[in-house]
Amino acid sequence: MKTIGLIGGMSWESTAHYYAILNRETSKALGGLNSAPVIVHSVDFAPIESMQKTGDWAGAGRLLAGIARSLEQQGCGVIGLATNTMHICAPEIVAAITVPFLHIATPTADALIADGIGRVGLLGTRFTMEKRFYIETLEAHGLEVLVPDIGITNLNGIIYEELCLGVVRDESRRTYVDAIARLAARGAEAVILGCTEIGMLIDDAVSPVPTYDTTDLHAKALVAAALAG
Ligand code: GLU
Repeated sequence: MKTIGLIGGMSWESTAHYYAILNRETSKALGGLNSAPVIVHSVDFAPIESMQKTGDWAGAGRLLAGIARSLEQQGCGVIGLATNTMHICAPEIVAAITVPFLHIATPTADALIADGIGRVGLLGTRFTMEKRFYIETLEAHGLEVLVPDIGITNLNGIIYEELCLGVVRDESRRTYVDAIARLAARGAEAVILGCTEIGMLIDDAVSPVPTYDTTDLHAKALVAAALAG
């Protein structure tokens, strides 16, 4: 099995979930005391969030590409970035390494297509919902993507001011369920939890349509890629 390189800390709350899933899935696949060979490079999120605010995506790209390169040099055979938003920098990361970079939207789109879903709602940070980089990747897989028509500031605030700090509130869960219901009323057959912390708040039990959790799908795909070949 290849060693997985995980660029995390954005936020560490969701990286902790990745770490658990990587190990559980490896144990499920290989049995016994097997666990995931993984190097987690967990960043300080505050400077990254400042770069997001000032639009310094080039600076963030340089930083993340350098981390990816160092993970490859340490022997990682597949690299994952444990945040949807920072996939804005995916091209810089891909250009910096020779081992595969597993884009978070790929296993997500594959799962939706496999389930016969064509039109999907997308929830995430304002960057993920408002910029084109993420939606384009999903569209390239043949999906039609809907984003909320109201309340983006509030949905975004819940991620940075609550979930990234480990705060899970019922009122915020209701806000997300309402947003999903609005997307469903506009024709979304399912919803992508397109921020790696949203799974802390929402699951299929509370959502009016099926959820596709990017943290879960991405972590499982990283294990599958590490086991293959
Ligand atoms: N973890 C989040 C995501 O998946 C948001 C934090 C960040 O801006 O990286 O987009």
